[in-house]
Amino acid sequence: MKTVVAVFSVLVASAFTLAAPPRVTEELTGKIISVTDGDTIKILVNRKPVTVRLEGIDAPEAKQSFGTKSKQALSEIVFGKTVVVKKTGEDRYGRTLGVIMIGRVDVNAEMIEDGWAWHYKKYNDEERLAKLEAKARSAKQGLWADPNPLAPWEYRTRKRTSNDPPATMFWLNSSSNTRHNQNCEYFENTKRGRLCGPKDGKPCGICGG
Ligand SMILES: [Zn+2]
Repeated sequence: MKTVVAVFSVLVASAFTLAAPPRVTEELTGKIISVTDGDTIKILVNRKPVTVRLEGIDAPEAKQSFGTKSKQALSEIVFGKTVVVKKTGEDRYGRTLGVIMIGRVDVNAEMIEDGWAWHYKKYNDEERLAKLEAKARSAKQGLWADPNPLAPWEYRTRKRTSNDPPATMFWLNSSSNTRHNQNCEYFENTKRGRLCGPKDGKPCGICGG
């Protein structure tokens, strides 16, 4: 029976090589110290703090819409827990990349399922994560309550490019379609919204957009 299962697994694996999950190189067990945002945590492993970037997901940045809620959602799942991190590698900042497990719960997948993080397709091509995101989107879970949310990687690119020249970044209140400039109190501070360009939406009556 074991052989049959093994052969079957090989067949399945070869049929879906693109969707193969990243290889686990190491398992770390540690207690949660803090939650940085919806895709990053700190744990204590052998009395040393280790920063873990959750594999395969990308959560809204702190200043984006839903950034705070995403962080809260992750905190609620992991608070006070001891977790197992299935390490899959390191990101370009040298942080441990991994899948957070609490018992049988895959926390990374749960964040996508609940609509608090995007599937990070650029670095992960797991079909199951893509499906969870599609499901969350169609159910308008979490950040998908916004019909047109800005992906965190887009947000970071715009932030980087907006430094030069500085005046190209605006904030669009996506409920009222109003554009605010960076000096406005509503910049990055509306219930729904996203960064936008100088030609998006209607200019704000107070700041002039
Ligand atoms: Zn304004």
